[in-house]
Amino acid sequence: MTQRCIGCDARFQLDDVIYTCPQCGSVLEIAVDAARLTGREMTGAGVWRYAPFLAVDGGQAVSLAEGATGLHRCERLGREIGISALYVKNEGENPTGSFKDRGMTVGVTKAVELGARSVACASTGNTAASLAAYAARAGLRAIVLLPGGKVAMGKVAQAIVHGARIVQVRGNFDDAMRVVQELSADRGETYLLNSINPFRLEGQKTLAFEVCEALGRAPDAMVLPMGNAGNISAIWKGFREFQAAGFIDRLPRMIGVQAVGAAPIVRHVNDGVAGCRVDNPETVATAIRIGAPVNWRKAVDAIRESGGEAGVVTDDEILRAQHDLAATEGRFVEPASAAPVALLRKHRIEAATVVCVATGHGLKDPDAVISNSPELVQADPTIESLRKALNR
Ligand SMILES: *Cc1c(COP(=O)(O)O)cnc(C)c1O
Ligand SMILES: [Zn+2]
Repeated sequence: MTQRCIGCDARFQLDDVIYTCPQCGSVLEIAVDAARLTGREMTGAGVWRYAPFLAVDGGQAVSLAEGATGLHRCERLGREIGISALYVKNEGENPTGSFKDRGMTVGVTKAVELGARSVACASTGNTAASLAAYAARAGLRAIVLLPGGKVAMGKVAQAIVHGARIVQVRGNFDDAMRVVQELSADRGETYLLNSINPFRLEGQKTLAFEVCEALGRAPDAMVLPMGNAGNISAIWKGFREFQAAGFIDRLPRMIGVQAVGAAPIVRHVNDGVAGCRVDNPETVATAIRIGAPVNWRKAVDAIRESGGEAGVVTDDEILRAQHDLAATEGRFVEPASAAPVALLRKHRIEAATVVCVATGHGLKDPDAVISNSPELVQADPTIESLRKALNR
């Protein structure tokens, strides 16, 4: 395996600590010859079950038992929105409550292998929480840059309790991302673990493998929120590799969803806007409040190659879908994770078996629910008062 530039096809060693191509500036990916993995035995459960597909040796894995999340059939919600087999892949079941753990177990294992002493990221919250936990597990120093203000409380608490060195940057995510890349540019010491890091995406691609193994084939469509767009890119890579290895024969359509106020990829794909950037991104779904996604080219390729599509949803639609998943299916997900269901509700897609990726747990951001709900009804501790309150 090698690192490959997606722009000019230049190749680099797996141990070269670079995050973009020195020749053309594009992002890198890990080139995996999956056809050689045909018939390979896989053992165990979770991300490291797929070690032969990963560019990092699992023998010394820094792991918190990530992956192996549930793929849940949503009968009632599916019937309501007209999809015959609707599933939720519930990534909130990961150790720190989001899919970021799949990438972080591989990324932090790579950091240890490279001899890094500290690891760093800019984050809308979940990457920070995950990095902090895995760095703690590995005995590495974690440096976390958060955009001032707009990070969900649960995620900040996680980064604090796992002992990360946290800096609030006066600016948005995109500003934090730019400055953390500068911090990590002087090689070796501080290893960058944003999704620009191709090893992280290798871990994230295992979600596709799990879905295929659970269904016995690929679904017709995968629907997921896009922020920096690493996840849609990683999952598409996973499906392609599983096909090349002969485990599946058909590929799903990849459907990426963004919030109206932070939709640079959708604008590029649907409206032909050149480049991929919006200034001052805004949405209640803070995990995808990103204006300049680093993996946008990979995401656009995933959508186009798979015959997929891109769509936007409003904040109100996101909050309604969050409520639907919780109140009809018993799944509490954070706002960004409800964006796929919000899109399916308003936009018919031609697919029988659809998997929505519920990227993070609802308890990450309780305020998103509380601040959009009516005040709680009160009662005196008497049966009369209680009856009255219940009848209100
Ligand atoms: C990180 C994250 C996303 C966005 O994933 P990208 O790989 O940046 O597109 C979506 N939802 C949640 C909950 C996240 O934590
Ligand atoms: Zn290049």
